[in-house]
Amino acid sequence: MLSNLAINGGPKEVTTPFSWPIFDAQEIKAVAEVVASGQWGNPDCTGLVAKFEEEFAAYCGSKYAVSCVNGSVSLRLALIACGVKPGDEVIVPPYTFIATASVVIECNCVPIFVDIDPETYNLDYRLIEAAITPRTKAIIPVHFGGQACQMDEIMTLAGKYNLKVIEDAAHAHGASYKGSKLGSIGHAGSFSFQSSKNLTSGEGGMVVTNDENLYATIRSLRNVGRIDGGQWYEHYNPGCNYRITPMQATLLSLQLRSLEAQTLKRNENGLLLSQLLADVDGISPLTRGHGENLHSYHIFIFKYDPEFFGGTPKNRFVEMLGAEGVPCFKGYPEPLYKQPLFQNKNFMCYAIPETADYSQTYCPEAEKACYQDAVWILQHGMLGEAEDIGAFARAIVKIQKALTA
Ligand SMILES: *Cc1c(COP(=O)(O)O)cnc(C)c1O
Repeated sequence: MLSNLAINGGPKEVTTPFSWPIFDAQEIKAVAEVVASGQWGNPDCTGLVAKFEEEFAAYCGSKYAVSCVNGSVSLRLALIACGVKPGDEVIVPPYTFIATASVVIECNCVPIFVDIDPETYNLDYRLIEAAITPRTKAIIPVHFGGQACQMDEIMTLAGKYNLKVIEDAAHAHGASYKGSKLGSIGHAGSFSFQSSKNLTSGEGGMVVTNDENLYATIRSLRNVGRIDGGQWYEHYNPGCNYRITPMQATLLSLQLRSLEAQTLKRNENGLLLSQLLADVDGISPLTRGHGENLHSYHIFIFKYDPEFFGGTPKNRFVEMLGAEGVPCFKGYPEPLYKQPLFQNKNFMCYAIPETADYSQTYCPEAEKACYQDAVWILQHGMLGEAEDIGAFARAIVKIQKALTA
């Protein structure tokens, strides 16, 4: 019955109010203490900032971590530290947040879009080799939604062609690949602590690495080009002030304590939801790796086939699902290379070669994901109880029944 749908005024299938971030009096007290201390800034990045960096590096199983203002700057600093030069090419997926590709432009480099695997929506490692040229310097695999990329294959290719790998782990705090935390496998791993992310202080970013030289360079770029052991007015590198505050660091230290349990819970809920949806016609959750990986489900993604929903377009279905109380989203409306930035070559002051041209770029799987298939359920919903996850599945079935009655 159409009138039974919440979008038409019927009862909601899901009534749990999901909120994010999750915090209590501890966070409020800790931030208040920093405020009361008067130590609002920290030009040396010592104290609470250094403490959180150590904690996060240890959590990831990486030797070093450098915090910075956001997860776009962290990607860019990692890329610069990897030694890219103007005109170099960097391989990126087209199904991701703009920063993965725009930071490449901001390094005077050329993003080369390689299509995604339709089973996982991650960079399709089988297509990377054909995109490598003598100008290729780096690959930025994005662990999309929190699902691990095929890192063994990617690292092998990188070794063969002497490329740097920067993992974009903005969705993947706490997730792992064959026992290694994501972000700790490539030459560098980049994280975001923006407000929607699985670990947040409102804004913030981090690079983790095991490479001492990368670490020293990124630290310097983050702190106006100063170096460890140098003087306050000695600037060695073209860096900027990208430091975070002690307020952010104290929030992140406390939030980090919940990350492992939250990740395990999302991982479990993701497996459950995949199971519950397995027999629903027209709904296909993305393939879950090979079982050995921990998925952080920043996004739970399923493919939607309107044929089994009375021909209802995806965006309308997502509105209906949202009205039922499921925290969901229609995903990216188009692949990154369709953005005016690339189509109109609005490269401003950046020295991008004339030959960089995106008018003919075509990644069929990314286009299918954007234009037809992908529906997202968001991470704060994936933190619900098993009962909530059951209700998500029931909401989908309820809509299907109403539309096909
Ligand atoms: C959020 C995000 C970033 C950048 O994070 P900001 O902190 O917002 O700059 C980079 N890559 C991906 C895939 C993201 O989702």
